[in-house]
Amino acid sequence: MTLKTPEQYENSLRKMNFKIYLMGELVENPVDHPIIRPSMNSVKMTYALAQDSQHEDLMTAKSHLSGKKINRFCHLHRNTEDLIKKVKMQRLLGQKTGACFQRCVGMDAINAVDSVTFEMDKKLGTKYHERFIKFLTMMQEEDLTVDGAMTDPKGDRSLTPGKQADPDLFTHVVERRKDGIIVRGAKAHQTGALNSHWILVMPTMTMTKEDSDYALSFVAPADAEGIFYIYGRQSCDTRKLEGGEIDVGNKEFGGHEALMVFDNLFVPWENVFMCGEYEYSGALVERFAGYHRQSYGGCKVGVGDVLIGAAALAADYNGAAKASHIKDKLIEMMHLNETLYACGIACSAEGHQTASGNYLIDLLLANVCKQNVTRLPYEIARLAEDIAGGLMVTMASEQDLRHPEIGKIVEKYFKGIASVPTEHRCRVLRLIENVTLGTAAVGYRTESMHGAGSPQAQRIMISRQGNLAHKKKLAKEIAGIKD
Ligand code: SF4
Ligand code: FE
Repeated sequence: MTLKTPEQYENSLRKMNFKIYLMGELVENPVDHPIIRPSMNSVKMTYALAQDSQHEDLMTAKSHLSGKKINRFCHLHRNTEDLIKKVKMQRLLGQKTGACFQRCVGMDAINAVDSVTFEMDKKLGTKYHERFIKFLTMMQEEDLTVDGAMTDPKGDRSLTPGKQADPDLFTHVVERRKDGIIVRGAKAHQTGALNSHWILVMPTMTMTKEDSDYALSFVAPADAEGIFYIYGRQSCDTRKLEGGEIDVGNKEFGGHEALMVFDNLFVPWENVFMCGEYEYSGALVERFAGYHRQSYGGCKVGVGDVLIGAAALAADYNGAAKASHIKDKLIEMMHLNETLYACGIACSAEGHQTASGNYLIDLLLANVCKQNVTRLPYEIARLAEDIAGGLMVTMASEQDLRHPEIGKIVEKYFKGIASVPTEHRCRVLRLIENVTLGTAAVGYRTESMHGAGSPQAQRIMISRQGNLAHKKKLAKEIAGIKD
């Protein structure tokens, strides 16, 4: 069974034994929890589309390990075509869910861990790659969702991991035993953690010799004893408890993040892929971040498509579609969105093979892609709000619209053009609100800024990869400067 059906995926989560705190309470049944369930629906869509012959080419791939058809989220990119298909798959899923579908983090993590463990073993004679391939074989065979976990809480940013007042602010090994290691610390902003079967932990940054206990990579079942979660709040999240469909904006889908805590977690050696080899921590971070920065040239573009469509509908329902400034704003939104897509495709097309055989994106272009994502979606959101009008944030509730008496008044005064029911107008404005200010704003607006690394992280990479010396040389040659 290399492809799980969506139902099998949902049932597999029901068998897990997560320990999750949400708004001060332990959650008994995350799959059916009204706040969590929409995020599960998004991941479920990655399984559903893989069963659809129309999307087979993007959603599935042939495993280089078994030759079997697997979900692309479990695949190691074998060529630049695979890298391009990955971005196209992410755009498709953004369009289908209008939210973060979470499963990319694990895909980006396995691709980074593959090449780095291969290079470590070659140089150091370790057995990490072999262990990793064993895990990957299981992941592909069982069509697992794996959560890549990188970002440590980091405490005082001016201090190195070992110098923190609390050593657990960075995830670290606290004991090395014969059978495995004991880990303490936490990972913050963990996208989709509670919809995942396993977690793949990586170091948060380049480590030095004195912080080698923090150069750590391993896998663990997401519900292992010794891991618990504190669920992240999102703007307007309690609207999901109201039982309606309009005010949530997105009737079915969402995303989630959580704080993942390692409370003396035991990890057997067979699941450890890095433990102390600090010289390789930087490469792992750089490659994972590169892959995830490429990802944003797909997923954010797909959600952008939904937002642009919603803005255009809002204009139609207002009777403003023919106004030249509206047309121009929609053109601008499309131009910005396709610019992001162009970056996602470009860093994929310029990818190259690593020593392990999998393909890595062009790191400079992937960082340029994400740097644009820290800006352009904000302008797209601004234009969507401009077109939507103030009603997007002042409109009466779904309960008022459905009310036996005042419902008629809401219906009458929130009406746009006569041929469109008021409810349609309410729905589309709530969708724009959801993507720009509500629960999906985590996955579109603020995640565009900070997800896959904050803007400054990309600027550091651009300065490293941009080859300024070469550009100076070009200028000297053209200007006839001889040193
Ligand atoms: Fe995937 Fe985008 Fe969510 Fe990252 S932010 S997990 S790339 S959908
Ligand atoms: Fe993200």
